[in-house]
Amino acid sequence: MKQNLDIIPLNKWLNTGDSPLVIAGPCSAETEEQVLSTAKEISKIKGVNIFRAGLWKPRTRPDQFEGVGEKGFAWLKKVKEETGLLITTEVATPQHVEACLKNDIDILWIGARTVVNPFSVQEITESLRGVDIPVMVKNPINPDLKLWLGALERINFVGIKKLVAIHRGFYALRKSIFRNPPMWEIPIELKRIVPNLPIITDPSHICGNRNMLFHISQKALDLEMDGLMIESHINPLVAKSDAEQQLLPKDLKKLLSKLEIRKPTGSKEFQNKLSELRSDIDHIDNDLIDILANRMDIIKEIGIFKRKNKITILQLKRWSYIIEDRINNGIDQGLDKDFLIKLLELVHIESIRIQNEIMNE
Ligand code: PEP
Ligand code: MN
Repeated sequence: MKQNLDIIPLNKWLNTGDSPLVIAGPCSAETEEQVLSTAKEISKIKGVNIFRAGLWKPRTRPDQFEGVGEKGFAWLKKVKEETGLLITTEVATPQHVEACLKNDIDILWIGARTVVNPFSVQEITESLRGVDIPVMVKNPINPDLKLWLGALERINFVGIKKLVAIHRGFYALRKSIFRNPPMWEIPIELKRIVPNLPIITDPSHICGNRNMLFHISQKALDLEMDGLMIESHINPLVAKSDAEQQLLPKDLKKLLSKLEIRKPTGSKEFQNKLSELRSDIDHIDNDLIDILANRMDIIKEIGIFKRKNKITILQLKRWSYIIEDRINNGIDQGLDKDFLIKLLELVHIESIRIQNEIMNE
């Protein structure tokens, strides 16, 4: 499936040159002093294009700081005047959108908790009909690509052509080193489905701490994401939201300067070598499929044989032997144990499915 959205390319409405788009600023606007001093430091960092600050904060518990609301517009206006940075903030209701439009906010973003609810997204889109403002859409909290795509489509269909997706990681049931594991396959699949959609990564909400921000930022660029949104606060230790993950502006500067911007394509020589290696991979993949088809043919034969002799399908002893033998062989050849287990399990499930079909014929 491919989806054509009517999108104006990022470089037609934002001048980032050849560099990735970088959005930085505090999780929340807290005081005029905090907003302005953070913005001033951030505006000195080469490569930052847009200043972010949340005015309305969706918080998990009702007793947490919920943002300063409309009071913050005057502070953001000052940031714009004094630093020249563009301003973005989160909107979650049509009232937020209207207030932002009245107060010269340059770019809106819709947060992960709002994107999970198509009713809310639809309501917001109604307030955007006929308006020319860039909108960024974070991925929904749950790892559901269609829900993310649906929100982007709703917004695009009311005429918003300056559209950006923000990848901020996903909720996972399993304990993880990340606050929201990145599940890169989801934004990559979004890129495949909507190739003209710019996608930026938000390492702050993925990591939930400061240690892994560089690693995730570099990975995002290496996976051809179009930019980054990173939270930065003049004094993260006393931040009223997301204190653990915000960076001092000077550390943000360090992080950005260490990033390596690698090119998606290289010299002729590089391209030739790459095509050669890719052609090897194509052959190997086809061989793998031939081998799997062969294996399944034999599985069928065994199934028929078992049925004739009234033998059960699952034979645990045999399966345990296969797992042990193949894993040892794979590990000897440098393959990862978890990968081998997943692969063998997949093959086993399919083998059982085939034999089940034969038993029921
Ligand atoms: C934020 O950007 O501060 C925020 C609330 O993010 P998310 O919607 O990704 O949780
Ligand atoms: Mn935050």
